[in-house]
Amino acid sequence: MRVVMKFGGTSMAGIERIRHVARLVERQAASSETCVVVSAMAGETDRLVQFCKEAAAHHDPREYDVVVASGEQVTAGLLAMTLQNAGLEARSFMGWQLLEASGVHGNARVEKIESGALDGALRAGTVAVIPGFQGRTEEGRIATLGRGGSDTSAVAIAAGLRADRCDIYTDVAGVYTTDPRIEPTARKLEAVGAEEMLELAGAGAKVLQVRSVGLAIREDMPLTVRSAFEDEPGTHIITNWEEADMERIAISGIAADRSEALVKLAASDRPGRLAAALRALASEGLSVDMVAQGPDSLHFTVPKTNLARALKALDGAKDAIGQTAVTSDDNVAKVSVVGVGIRSNPELAAKVFDVLADRQVPLLAATLSELKASALVPDEQVDVAVRALHAAFELGE
Ligand code: ASP
Ligand code: MG
Repeated sequence: MRVVMKFGGTSMAGIERIRHVARLVERQAASSETCVVVSAMAGETDRLVQFCKEAAAHHDPREYDVVVASGEQVTAGLLAMTLQNAGLEARSFMGWQLLEASGVHGNARVEKIESGALDGALRAGTVAVIPGFQGRTEEGRIATLGRGGSDTSAVAIAAGLRADRCDIYTDVAGVYTTDPRIEPTARKLEAVGAEEMLELAGAGAKVLQVRSVGLAIREDMPLTVRSAFEDEPGTHIITNWEEADMERIAISGIAADRSEALVKLAASDRPGRLAAALRALASEGLSVDMVAQGPDSLHFTVPKTNLARALKALDGAKDAIGQTAVTSDDNVAKVSVVGVGIRSNPELAAKVFDVLADRQVPLLAATLSELKASALVPDEQVDVAVRALHAAFELGE
């Protein structure tokens, strides 16, 4: 049996907590070969990012990676020595020693895990401790995997080591039907399909980095999200339902996402206006999420962080689009109902929009897919919408 455990920043924030993590690792290591992937101490990566901004507004992304990757090096070393101090065989391996990355600095992809030395250590009974988030590019430089990337490191390493499973220890007890801070009756799911988890994560539920779930699906790696602080079973992320002896539930949960802004173009109806707008955004590397069209308007959403660039790109292409004015609204939020068969069961989608209409929540845009029905609503109505949908689909305790 071989297990990868991953601990998030809250679990690693300070020596006391690292000692607690060491006890969990010790317990696991009594019955399996054990590899531990760690995050930086909570808040540390933000602090390092801030230093970069202060040092140089336009900094070299390769040097940014050198700086921000350091937080995980600290926690990996500290955990390894804490384990040794408790009498275990343990050692750290740095990202550059085993994780080959490619793509852009600051948001690199995992290319390959060189598992040789690591595999040997595990077979010899040593607990391996690895900093998440970091790897090495083909040029031999340090790269990081994007914010929250330690989850992806853990799944990639688990796959590379052919581990039996990957357990993600975090500061929440698992995946919930919705954010318990919005709806106190939110229930912890015992299991959730990886595809639904991907939708929940993409729709704003930030338990795991989205990419880690995609990777778990591709690698067929069983994943569990569980609390580092309570001895509870957590949520199993099922990548293979045929093997899981469980009936698939229709609706898994409700997610709220405040990261998008609405862009509104006044543009007369003519062929190609949407294409022209999307092309203008694409030339800046920007993609849109939700789209709504009216006779004299074209609405869509972009990430808030890209809003200024999007408006500029659209302005540059205003003749091609035929737009007379462009405005934006960042007081919007996307509410998504995630579950299997949303599009193929029309009653499910109808119910989503019925519930919103019932509560008089204005609908600014909508999208439907097989696994998700999303509604864009005014920011101040999002909590009402989440609670109403949670109740209507009977997701609570
Ligand atoms: N420490 C990094 C971050 O805060 C990576 C991680 O924790 O997953 O984004
Ligand atoms: Mg995280």
